[in-house]
Amino acid sequence: MQQKNYASQIHRCFRCGYCKFPTDYSSFNCPSYRRFRFDSYSTGGRLWLIYAWLKGEIEWSEHFAEILYTCTTCKNCAEQCPMKFAPDIVDWIVAARSDMVEKGKIPPRVSRFFEAVYGYGNPLKLLRSDRSAWASGTKIYAPGDEYLLYVGCLGSYDENAQKMARSLVHVLETAGVSFGILGNDEECCGNEIYMLGEKQLPSVRWKL
Ligand code: SF4
Ligand code: SF4
Repeated sequence: MQQKNYASQIHRCFRCGYCKFPTDYSSFNCPSYRRFRFDSYSTGGRLWLIYAWLKGEIEWSEHFAEILYTCTTCKNCAEQCPMKFAPDIVDWIVAARSDMVEKGKIPPRVSRFFEAVYGYGNPLKLLRSDRSAWASGTKIYAPGDEYLLYVGCLGSYDENAQKMARSLVHVLETAGVSFGILGNDEECCGNEIYMLGEKQLPSVRWKL
């Protein structure tokens, strides 16, 4: 990730707005801009707000944090931005979130998400002992298995995602693939935590 120097690069966005739209201009490209229809919620608006915050021109506020957190990290903007820095845009937004988290500037909803993952191993606050309930009879991973099947929090707890996980297990078993699952030892992968700007929790829990 190109996070380290983002503060010295973010001004390169000149808010042309190309990233707001798909190539044929038929719709809106950035989902948060589509939802809120204010420039602050578009990629360029968000980057300029971050730049102003880094320069001390605006104070942190829950509204500012909300604007940063309404970015879904979909990377549609990276596809449409014509500038060389395009692949780094989402990393910059995540880096700004990390700066907020490091300063203790965490909106309550984000904070509750972190606490849930830390306490329960999943953001849904569901019991660890129920994690593998979807997988009755599926083999637990053991040394010598060729693959580890990790299904994630939704695959473990969400009714529809569980169906997909079971289907995948059926396909793998039918194909004779050597694999196992982690069962109740599986935990949140940490991706959402990282994208929300918390870098310490993944390193504490998963020793990254
Ligand atoms: S991110 Fe790229 S496309 Fe979007 S406003 Fe900035 S320079 Fe323009
Ligand atoms: S990554 Fe964020 S800023 Fe870029 S298009 Fe998606 S929601 Fe908008």
